[in-house]
Amino acid sequence: MFKRTLRCPALTALLLCVLTIAGAEAARAQGAAPPSSLDALKDDIAAANRILADLQVVDAFGHVSVRHPTRPDHFLMGRNLAPALVTPADIVEYDLDGKAIDPPAGATHFLERFIHAEVYRARADVKSVVHTHSPAVIPFGATKAPMRPMYHMSAFLAPGVPVFEIREAGGMTNMLVSNGPLGKALAASLGDKNVVLMRGHGNVVVAAALPMAVFRAYYTETNARLQLQAMGIGGDITFLDKEEGEKAGEVLETIHLRAWALWKEKMRAK
Ligand SMILES: [Zn+2]
Repeated sequence: MFKRTLRCPALTALLLCVLTIAGAEAARAQGAAPPSSLDALKDDIAAANRILADLQVVDAFGHVSVRHPTRPDHFLMGRNLAPALVTPADIVEYDLDGKAIDPPAGATHFLERFIHAEVYRARADVKSVVHTHSPAVIPFGATKAPMRPMYHMSAFLAPGVPVFEIREAGGMTNMLVSNGPLGKALAASLGDKNVVLMRGHGNVVVAAALPMAVFRAYYTETNARLQLQAMGIGGDITFLDKEEGEKAGEVLETIHLRAWALWKEKMRAK
């Protein structure tokens, strides 16, 4: 999907060049090498959109963003497109007021870009934000049943999963976080957590890097399905304890890159 051109002048240099690029590709396949340029970051954002569509965490709706690596008061996100259609050329830079910086001619923008803008404004530690209408989480936003971690893969839920009630911020709305004040209220509901559910809408997942944000978006959906199954069985559910969540969360800091490498490779093969 994302090809590169080799230009090495002599045979020895060519061999070194091939080995270097092969090494870099291997490192990238392992998820070990962060993108070294804006173009590589845009490649990863486009890949993340397609990965989440492939995993059915997003459908025609939902978006992925990354804080700009050198302009922390800006972020990068696809223009108004279904996630499965986003390419690196569709990634647009925005400021924290949701204003697009030199967008492609004719590009339109997500109404809910204020979710991303206000989370980045409120949380200096957040470098990536995913917003989805992840279907299995919807019941947890609409009922009083709190979402809690069912297993180690969703240990990042252990600190708690708040619910954003848009009526408290905006009264009777069309349910979309389509302006700064609603985005600020949502960021306040998120607080210092990793995930916030949006009543009657979906969720927002944050992380210190794009691969972890994608991982958390997927395993939030998976956890919701598992918890609904456990609730259907009936009886008490034994969730991860807070201490188990902390310990398992430390493991996820490294192993999530295996999932990222697998998902990216699948996208590359398509
Ligand atoms: Zn939405």
